[in-house]
Amino acid sequence: MVTGDAAYIKKINRSLIIRKIVKEGMISRADLSKATNLTRATISAQVADLLEEGLIIETQLEHFAVGRKPIMLSLNGQAGYALGIDLDYGQISFTLSDLLGCPVTSNISQINTTDYNEILHLLIQQIKMLTTDFTNSRYGIVGIVIGIHGLVTKDEVIHYVPRFNWHNINLKNDLEREIDTAIYLENNANLSSFAERVYVHHETDNLLCATLYSGIGLGMMMNNEFLRGHDGFAGEIGHMIVVPQGKPCNCGNKGCWEKYASESSFFEHLSEKRQIKSLTYDHIQSWLDEGDEEVQDLMEQFLFYLSIGLNNMINMYNPDLLVLDSELLRMYPDSLNKISENLNSSISHYRELMITTIGKKSCVLGACALAIKKFLDVPMLNLSYEMKTNQFRSAII
Ligand SMILES: [Zn+2]
Repeated sequence: MVTGDAAYIKKINRSLIIRKIVKEGMISRADLSKATNLTRATISAQVADLLEEGLIIETQLEHFAVGRKPIMLSLNGQAGYALGIDLDYGQISFTLSDLLGCPVTSNISQINTTDYNEILHLLIQQIKMLTTDFTNSRYGIVGIVIGIHGLVTKDEVIHYVPRFNWHNINLKNDLEREIDTAIYLENNANLSSFAERVYVHHETDNLLCATLYSGIGLGMMMNNEFLRGHDGFAGEIGHMIVVPQGKPCNCGNKGCWEKYASESSFFEHLSEKRQIKSLTYDHIQSWLDEGDEEVQDLMEQFLFYLSIGLNNMINMYNPDLLVLDSELLRMYPDSLNKISENLNSSISHYRELMITTIGKKSCVLGACALAIKKFLDVPMLNLSYEMKTNQFRSAII
C-alpha cells in the first residue's frame, strides 16, 4: 500500500463501499459505516460521489414501524447494461441485462455454419446493433461476456471447440478491433456454475455445476473463484474414463463418462433403438408418461453411470453443493433421490445435490452476471432470480 496516497485510499474505500452495497442489496449510511469501519464523514463523501455518478440510488423505506424512515442505498440497476452471449453449436443466444442482472432483452440467432469468419461477422453485427439500441443510460454497455463450449486459455484465447473444430482462435482480439467495449471469454460450464452461485445459491462459496447436455462440462467455483488448472482447462470431466475399453470417444480414449451419462449419449442410444432421427424431449416425456419399460431402463442406466462419475467428482473436490444441469433429470420422477441413493460411500462428503432451477439459460445469465461483476470490481454478486425468470420468459416470448 502506498502510504499517504489519498487518491489510492479513496479508491480502496470506494471499492469497499460498493462491495457492501452490492452484498446487502440495500443498506443505510449508518449501517454502511458499521459494516466497513469507515467514519460517517468518509461514507457521506463517498456516497455523495456515487450518487453523483448515478451508480447508486437512494430509497426511503415506507413501511418502517418506529421513528424516522431510513434512507437506504442500493445499486442503480438502470445505470448500464451487461451483454451475455452463449456461443453454442447451431445457435447463438444474446441477453442484455441491467446492472442488477435482470434481463431486458433476449434473442437467439440460429446458425447453420461453423465457419469462424461467418460467425465472427454475425457476432459483430449483433453486438453493434445491441450496443446502439442501449446507449441511453449513464454507462451504456459495461461489458460483454461470451460463453465458449470448449477450452479457453487463461489469456482468453480459444484453444479448442470440438463441435466447431476451432483451434487456437483469438476471438477476443478480433472483436476488440471492431467493438469499443470490454470483452471477456469464458467456458460455458464455468458461466453456468457462476449463474447458479450468483442467482440462486447465495449460501455457498464452494459449488460444482455439471452440465449434461452435449457432453459433460463441469464448472467449479471454489472459495467463490473459478478453479481453472494450469492452462485454464480444468473441468473436462466428461472425458474421465468410467468404463475401461468402453465406447470410443472423439477425444481418442475409450469409455469416457460423457459417452454414458450425457443427454446427447442418451438421445443417440434411444434414437438408434427407436429408429427415430430427431428425438425430442416431448417424445421421451410421453414414453415416460406411458410407463415405457425400455425408456425407463435406459434412464436407470443413465442414472447409474451418472452416479459413478458424480461419486468420483465428490471425492476429488469435496464440494458443498453439487448442481446438475439436465432436462432429462428434471423430467424423470425421483431422479435426484435415485442418484443420492447411489452416492452412499462413507468417504463422499457434500452437503446437497440439486437439479438446476435455471436450466439451459444459465450460460447466458452467468455471462451477464460476470460482466457486471467485472464492471463493479467486486469479489462476488448476489442477484435475485425469481424476478429474472418471469422477465426472461416474457422477453423470449
Ligand atoms: Zn473422451
